[in-house]
Amino acid sequence: MTPDELRRHGHAVVDWVADYLARVGEMPVRSTVAPGEVRAALPPHPPAHPEPFDDVMADVESIILPGITHWQSPDFFAYFPANSSGPSILGELLSAGLGVQGMMWATSPACTELETHVLDWMVELLGLPERFRSTGAGGGVIEDSASSATLCAVLAARHRAGGAERLTDLVGYASAEAHSSVQKAFTVAGLRDDQLRIVDVDDTMAMRPDHLRSLVAEDLVAGRRPFFVCTTVGTTSTMAIDPVRAVAEAVADSGIWVHVDAAMAGAAGVVPELRWVNDGLELVDSWCFDPHKWLFTNFDCDCLFVADRAALVGALSILPEYLRNAASDAGEVIDYRDWQVPLGRRFRALKLWFVIRHYGAEGLRHHVARHVELARGLADRLSSDPRFELAAPVDLNLVCFRGIKGDEATERIMAAVNDSGRALLSHTRVAGRFVIRASVGQTTTEAGNVDALWALLDAVADGKAIAPRRLEAPRTISGASS
Ligand SMILES: *Cc1c(COP(=O)(O)O)cnc(C)c1O
Repeated sequence: MTPDELRRHGHAVVDWVADYLARVGEMPVRSTVAPGEVRAALPPHPPAHPEPFDDVMADVESIILPGITHWQSPDFFAYFPANSSGPSILGELLSAGLGVQGMMWATSPACTELETHVLDWMVELLGLPERFRSTGAGGGVIEDSASSATLCAVLAARHRAGGAERLTDLVGYASAEAHSSVQKAFTVAGLRDDQLRIVDVDDTMAMRPDHLRSLVAEDLVAGRRPFFVCTTVGTTSTMAIDPVRAVAEAVADSGIWVHVDAAMAGAAGVVPELRWVNDGLELVDSWCFDPHKWLFTNFDCDCLFVADRAALVGALSILPEYLRNAASDAGEVIDYRDWQVPLGRRFRALKLWFVIRHYGAEGLRHHVARHVELARGLADRLSSDPRFELAAPVDLNLVCFRGIKGDEATERIMAAVNDSGRALLSHTRVAGRFVIRASVGQTTTEAGNVDALWALLDAVADGKAIAPRRLEAPRTISGASS
């Protein structure tokens, strides 16, 4: 593809994306294709000859789009958001256009320096402790996901506890509400399942520091070596908030690495009134959050901060001869390949930089605060309606609720909403009971969308039928063939 062809097709693709975002709110939120339907529409063999770009885009419209669940719909309330924005999409495009490999400072200095700078900005934007800035012993890095961030924290903690030589007696801690990526990180780090001990939770589903303290004492008596605890600020199931300060105090001076997984809730720190989410962070070793969830930056983008980068780099640095260079040898630069598992890395800081500059601290604050306000409004309606009850506290933007008629009725309510294509909800279980989750965090979700969700719930709770939203006929791609 020549630069001129790229220009022509590129304009058509950007037009397509802009049109998509303009019409996504009218599409059924959840894809209705059956298993195998997308593959059945694709030719069994790869093309032997070059195909016109317009044909490819026509298939995007007719084959791919029906198989998409619209995460960018303003009526998407399922799971946690994976929100996005114009500046982020354009930053991603630019990253692909430059196509650099940012494994070391020397392979593209701007890729490293922009990342360091934007993460220092992030400390200020979120009100994080100064120890996470790159100017001291700590610093931040962009990982692909919170799962990778947790793995890196486990590896850094393992390094600090003596490395891979003596693994058998290490023990770590998390509550049963922690994300599954904690267990996976232990597995990848070569630890047995029973080396992750499960700490009890209280009735808000938050970790109990007193139980943690007694588990640690028990393990020490048994000759095991406690090395790591993962706390969660905003659990995936119900947005429960572990008491980070009390946990860090409970294990103070023990040498235990304290990690905080704030994948979703960390973004709340852009709003000064919500900075309670940062309580105790000046006492912890590492913290991460996902701008690709709630900060308008398309997947993938996780920010991991450490208080002491030496442990992380010590755990992950390997320098083969073919990567040696003067800047690295002189220790003058950061080489982010030593802060992550893979060698290669994308220029992810661009999209984050674009997002921060486009919105400004003020814009980010406005949108995040708005989501919390909308979620609380929905929670008020549910809790004051005799047909519903809340199933967890609503501190931020996740509303967990159920119908008062029991699990089956609650499942039916969710299925009816989801089948209508007019909104998408997901579920969890709290103390064994079926609970609907409505997470308010899409970039374009407004009061009207939450009102419409409430109207749907109101109707289906009374058994009323809802006319489903349908996908319109495929469009011809305007401009692509010009
Ligand atoms: C979503 C989530 C994760 C996993 O995030 P990825 O970035 O997809 O790996 C981890 N922890 C919590 C608390 C989450 O909500």
